[in-house]
Amino acid sequence: MTESQIKSIVGEVMAKMQLSSGVAGMHGVFSDMNTAIEKAKAAQKVVRVMSMDQREKIISCIRTKIKENAETFARMGVDETGMGNVGDKILKHLLVAEKTPGTEDIRTEAWSGDRGLTLIEMGPFGVIGAITPCTNPSETVLCNTIGMLAGGNTVVFNPHPQAIRTTIFAINLINEASMEAGGPDNIACTVEKPTLDSSAVMMKHKDIPLLVATGGPGVVTAVLSSGKRGIGAGAGNPPALVDETADIRKAAEDIVNGCTFDNNLPCIAEKEIIAVDGICDELMRYMVEEQGCYLASKDIQDRLVATVFTEKGALNRKCVGRSAKALLKMVGVDVPDNIRCITFEGPKEHPLIAEELMMPILGVVRAKNFKDAVEQAVWLEHGNRHSAHIHSKNVDRITEYARALDTAILVKNGPSYAALGFGGEGFPTFTIASRTGEGLTSAATFTKRRRCTMSDSLCIR
Ligand code: NAD
Repeated sequence: MTESQIKSIVGEVMAKMQLSSGVAGMHGVFSDMNTAIEKAKAAQKVVRVMSMDQREKIISCIRTKIKENAETFARMGVDETGMGNVGDKILKHLLVAEKTPGTEDIRTEAWSGDRGLTLIEMGPFGVIGAITPCTNPSETVLCNTIGMLAGGNTVVFNPHPQAIRTTIFAINLINEASMEAGGPDNIACTVEKPTLDSSAVMMKHKDIPLLVATGGPGVVTAVLSSGKRGIGAGAGNPPALVDETADIRKAAEDIVNGCTFDNNLPCIAEKEIIAVDGICDELMRYMVEEQGCYLASKDIQDRLVATVFTEKGALNRKCVGRSAKALLKMVGVDVPDNIRCITFEGPKEHPLIAEELMMPILGVVRAKNFKDAVEQAVWLEHGNRHSAHIHSKNVDRITEYARALDTAILVKNGPSYAALGFGGEGFPTFTIASRTGEGLTSAATFTKRRRCTMSDSLCIR
């Protein structure tokens, strides 16, 4: 498909969604939250009694449609939110389609012996209420739905208002896939205009037994204060530590690749570097000379601080997920297209280092030695227990770092996205339950355990 054809499809979809009737013809989209939950509940009654094979057929159809629409999703996400880049967003959608676990993640444990047979089976919660961020909007909705459906649930989303059209496109596609595969409509639902009020309705609704929040600290705290079971996938500020045993040239390449992926939007992406003194200059030289990093002077750093934060110290949303070239242009610097990251050396307290920016800005903190580097990394991670990365060939040091940081994700000697199965082993997710401890969520996370015991029978050994 050519770029102009894709643009025309995106235009058509956007136009359709802007009709005065709201979201005419879009499956799973309702004007109010109570109706959305009611419809998802009716769909869950059908899903509940489906065979695993039927669930898998729907998931397979969702995967096919994601692959067919990966570029459309990517363009819609960038157009609507102004964040990220199309090329990397295509890769993220393909990753979701190809590697998100389905029903194979639902496993039964069993004990059999003299006194019979006991099973632990994973059953659905029912209708899950999910809140999604604008940084990975359709990626999160699609990945969440595959896992939740594999577990036998349906889902109602209260997405970020800044990404509603992209979310609606994803939800419509999911329901079309379900119906094409012989399943019900409304396996995923949302509201036309998500607000804090629609979110509050969802959090209090009697038919929502589980809430899943993916976003910053505010939403995770709100969900965990709701009185319901909550899975909280919150903010991070992942440090990347480099010591003198690392392959320094490769570390520079891996860290800049991870940091710049989708313009630094993934919550797991490298947000700052802590380099031990002996290799700090060498690392920065590779970053600047070989990896397309722009070395920002004190003056440019100050201009960036004044631009990427508002007067009240909040993040300027217009800067989140923008390219290094765009950010530099905002502060009056024109750079060639090969510049993909901004770097400088500074103390850990520097606002461009201490804050989770979600921009390709990689401040480098110099550490006296490994111990000092670990202490600074712990401080910079702010106790989020989310993600941390290290480049070292010394396993004792890697172990010490892992224990000190205590994060859901730790990548050693690779780019951060390796943790999502992209150039690394394992499965992807865009909901990393850092606050509540489930870690990388998958179908099994969205199920509850039931014990089923047969007394004194069915053990035939
Ligand atoms: P955000 O916190 O502004 O919004 C996330 C979602 O929560 C949106 O749908 C928003 O409308 C809603 N929300 C915000 N405050 C709320 C409240 N008090 N009550 C109810 N709903 C509320 O975040 P964002 O800018 O969309 O996404 C970026 C943030 O999310 C970053 O901090 C990033 O680290 C984090 N994130 C975490 C993960 C993870 O898996 N742990 C994944 C993606 C993003």
